[in-house]
Formats: sequence, structure tokens, C-alpha cells
Amino acid sequence: MKRILVTGGSGFLGSHLCEKLLAEGNEVLCVDNLFTGRKVNIQHLLQMDNFEFHRHDITFPLYVEVDEIYNLACPASPIHYQFDPVQTIKTSVMGSINMLGLAKRLKVKILQASTSEIYGDPEIHPQPESYRGCVNTTGIRACYDEGKRCAETLFFDYHRQHQVAIKVMRIFNTYGPRMHPNDGRVVSNFIVQALRGKDITIFGTGQQTRSFCYVDDLIDGMYKLMNSRDDFQGPVNIGNPCEFTMLELAEMIIDLTGSSSRLIFLPLPQDDPLQRKPQIDLAQKELGWEPKIQLAEGLTKTINYFEKTLTKQGVAITV
Ligand code: NAD
Ligand code: UDP
Ligand code: UDP
Repeated sequence: MKRILVTGGSGFLGSHLCEKLLAEGNEVLCVDNLFTGRKVNIQHLLQMDNFEFHRHDITFPLYVEVDEIYNLACPASPIHYQFDPVQTIKTSVMGSINMLGLAKRLKVKILQASTSEIYGDPEIHPQPESYRGCVNTTGIRACYDEGKRCAETLFFDYHRQHQVAIKVMRIFNTYGPRMHPNDGRVVSNFIVQALRGKDITIFGTGQQTRSFCYVDDLIDGMYKLMNSRDDFQGPVNIGNPCEFTMLELAEMIIDLTGSSSRLIFLPLPQDDPLQRKPQIDLAQKELGWEPKIQLAEGLTKTINYFEKTLTKQGVAITV
């Protein structure tokens, strides 16, 4: 049995990861400052003997004893990471330094949840890991993109300079139960709008594309990466290469919910990437991983989740 630290463990992806690690027979220490994470995501885990929650901001040092670290702490949706951009970049940079310092002291393996956003508004399509990206360093997305880029650099420097065992994963758009209903991400926005019969907000023309990965597939890839051969550090893309325009996504969600919502068109936010799709050959080769859940199936599960939560809360969810 290992004792595993998950930073950002009460967030969307982190809570699914904690569940997976517990199911594999580990002890889990979940560290989160509850900025975008919610206690309700881990409520069902709190009674378990093998699960512990510690409220803490990783921009401050953390002295604990663990056998492995998954570093997921960081707000991930544009409205959340742009709410306090300085704190966002501190979380990626100072947070990574602290977690790498912890890994160095304990001589344990650490995985970084990096992102497809390090590719910025990509000029190469689909994106292989060798692509170096196109990020506007002074734009409103830079606090997230550049923070995550610097975190990757720190991981590789701690590896080269201090022999810290690292794994770097570039996560592409992921969706599923426990997404925050108000975090402004496109899947949760469209589903909540469709369920409430509100207008569906398409930014720009809706011709921009994303490739959506269901959370169970993503967590499976993350676990496989952490347990991959010792001399494989990544970075490795984990995402679903099936690419959709935002208009196609909206139509699919209207169809699956049977909603009468109409589409409305709003301005495209600054630096919004035009297209995004992972090349996943490396994950297939190194991890034997590929996504299994198609968009319609994953959306149906996610819609069921939101239907239940909206009914349970019995209150209007504002988007
Ligand atoms: P999320 O916002 O649900 O989870 C992030 C968690 O980190 C939250 O629980 C939040 O409270 C916590 N947190 C934020 N700042 C912190 C700090 N300074 N100290 C401690 N805890 C802090 O987002 P998510 O979608 O679950 O994303 C998890 C990770 O995966 C993030 O690092 C994100 O950048 C990365 N990622 C996610 C996606 C995606 O599509 N969901 C895509 C690419 C990368
Ligand atoms: N750190 C931590 N927990 C530990 C060990 C280190 O939070 O168990 C933090 C500590 O605050 C330090 C950072 O990690 O500033 C980087 O550690 P490192 O050993 O690389 O740097 P140094 O301590 O030499 O500045
Ligand atoms: N988007 C949209 N309507 C919304 C929310 C988002 O059309 O209500 C668009 C957004 O402009 C972007 C895409 O959907 O082109 C994905 O946005 P999200 O914030 O989910 O992820 P990211 O841009 O970080 O990939």
C-alpha cells in the first residue's frame, strides 16, 4: 500500500483520481485550498480510513510524508484562472517548486498535470508533443499557459539537476461528472443551458474546434503514465482525438437533452485557440493507452449527472 498525495484532489479531475487510487488499495492524502474544488466532490471519501483531506495552498511549503505525488492543483477554466491571474501563475510556478522540493526531499515520483494550452493557438494540427507552441505571453490566457509551461521546465530541471523522478502529462479538454456547473467551460455551459431551456452561448462563429476526452479515460491514462517505465518522463498528450466544432457540440447536446434551447452568438474571447486535437501515438506506444468512450456516450453520462445535481439543488444555476 502506498500513501499518495493528490494536490487539487477535491477538484473535478482530482476527485476522480482519488477514487481510482483508493480503489487500487492506496492511502490518499488530498491537499486542496478549495478555490475551485468542492468538498461535495470528496464527501463520499471522507469517511474512509484510507482517505485524508488537508486544506492548504501549495504556493506555501508543505511538509508531509508520502510515497508518490500527483500535482493537479491549479484552476483550469478560463473564468477561474483569469479571476486572480497572479495567484494562477504562482500556483503553477511556486506550487510546482514546493511540490518538486517535497519530491526531492522524499525521493519520490511526481506527476504534473500539464495541459494542451502550452501549445497556445497552435499552427500545427493535430498537435504532437514535439510542437513547441504559440502562446501570447502578454495575453489574458498567459497566466495559465505560461505558468504551465514554466512548470514543465521546472519538472525537467529538477529531473536533470536533482534526479527527481518525473512524469509530465499534457491533458486535452476533459469533461464528465463533477465539472463545476459555473466554471464557464463549454461542455458544462451547454449542458446546463440546454437543461434549463436557456439560450446556448456560442462564442465566435462556433467553427473553432476542440477534442473532448471523458474523465474515466483521462484518469486511466494518468494512472498508466505514473506507472510507466522509469526512464519515460513524457511529456505525453492524453486526450481524445475526435474533433468537433462548438456548433456540432451544441447540436449534439440539444439532441441528447431534447432541449428547445436556441443558439445565440457572442464575441469570441481574446486568444481563443481556433483548433485543437491531440496526436496520441506516443501514449498508444508507451502506455498502451487510448480513449474508449465516444462523445455521445460520455455526454449522456454527464447530462445525467447535471440533471441529478440541478434537481437536488432545486435552485437556479446561473451560467
Ligand atoms: P478544477 O478547478 O476542478 O481542479 C483544480 C483544483 O486545484 C481545485 O480543487 C482547486 O481548489 C485546487 N487548487 C487551485 N489552486 C490551488 C492552490 N494554490 N493550492 C491548492 N489547491 C489549489 O480543475 P480540473 O479540471 O480538475 O483540473 C485539474 C488539473 O488538470 C489542473 O492542473 C488543470 O490545469 C489540469 N487540466 C485540466 C484540463 C481539463 O480539461 N479539465 C485540461 C488540461 C489540464
Ligand atoms: N519544500 C516543501 N516541502 C518539503 C521540501 C521542500 O514544501 O518537504 C519546499 C521548500 O519551501 C523549498 C521548495 O520546496 O523552498 C524547493 O525545495 P528545494 O529543496 O528545491 O529548494 P531549497 O530548499 O534548497 O530552496
Ligand atoms: N465556448 C463557447 N461557449 C461557451 C463557453 C465556451 O462557445 O459558453 C467556446 C470557447 O470560446 C472555446 C471552446 O468553447 O472556443 C472551449 O472552451 P473552454 O473554456 O471549455 O475550453 P478551452 O478554451 O480552455 O479549451
